[in-house]
Amino acid sequence: MPECRICGADESYQSIKAAVVYGGKDYHNFWFCQECKIIYLFPFLSIKDEAFFYKKEFEKFMDSRSGSDRDWSGAEEHVKTNQDQVSRRWNFLEPYVKKEMDILEIGCSSGFMMNKFREFGMNCTGIEPSGEFLAFLKKNGHRAFPGLKTMKQDMPEKFDLIVHFFVLEHIRDPFDFFKETYAMLKPGGRIIAEVPCANDPLTSMYTIPEFEKFYWSIAHHYYYNPESISYILEKLGYEYELIPEQRYDLSNHMTWMMEGKPGGQGKYDQIFSRQLNEKYMDDLKSKWVCDTMVVVIDK
Ligand SMILES: [Zn+2]
Repeated sequence: MPECRICGADESYQSIKAAVVYGGKDYHNFWFCQECKIIYLFPFLSIKDEAFFYKKEFEKFMDSRSGSDRDWSGAEEHVKTNQDQVSRRWNFLEPYVKKEMDILEIGCSSGFMMNKFREFGMNCTGIEPSGEFLAFLKKNGHRAFPGLKTMKQDMPEKFDLIVHFFVLEHIRDPFDFFKETYAMLKPGGRIIAEVPCANDPLTSMYTIPEFEKFYWSIAHHYYYNPESISYILEKLGYEYELIPEQRYDLSNHMTWMMEGKPGGQGKYDQIFSRQLNEKYMDDLKSKWVCDTMVVVIDK
């Protein structure tokens, strides 16, 4: 039995949260710490295995997980099929963005958010480890680097805003990652992170065995909830705010219930009104039984 990877609480506080890890081996589990409420992969991948996974397997792996809603087969298609994410994210980003801001997006993939930031008038820099996406970003005239280290060698300047969407859960040491990125902010700068929320109703409220086998992924070191992310940010002494967010709609949830598989977003839009979907999602968010959280950190 492990000790907690976040707070160090001993084994008496640890229990198995998920016995099946998607893409993992029989001996992989996700564990829950009763002390800090983090859910973490154990045993976790070695740095070498992880590097191999991202180099060779990540896009194929994501393609196998995304149902028919997202296209990971090529960068162009990836941009096209993620335009709904751009408009959804813009809702929570809008109060924080200004033209001419220096913005860094970590894990910008095909650059579908970077395109929006550039079009809005911000000075964008992107970090993207995938070779295919990096070449595509450069072809589209974006300033992009494969990692933070190479970026810092080339451009030592700091940022008004650092954003990352669905990156934090992949990071081995969130304390180090927050410290490193916080140090890259100008005074008064801000980090905005979008993170999956383990209070996702598909696991915390509905009982769907197929979803349980799918949700807990070998690509993630951690699953966060408001309590565990607060534990980390308070340890770091940061000022922060958590905003509940819901990505998936009623049709997606019904598809999981009926067919036990991902997809179906918007499937019943001819029947369910936009207001019904928004109300459904608002109810999930207001109770914090939602699939996503937005973390806003102010320097
Ligand atoms: Zn803990």
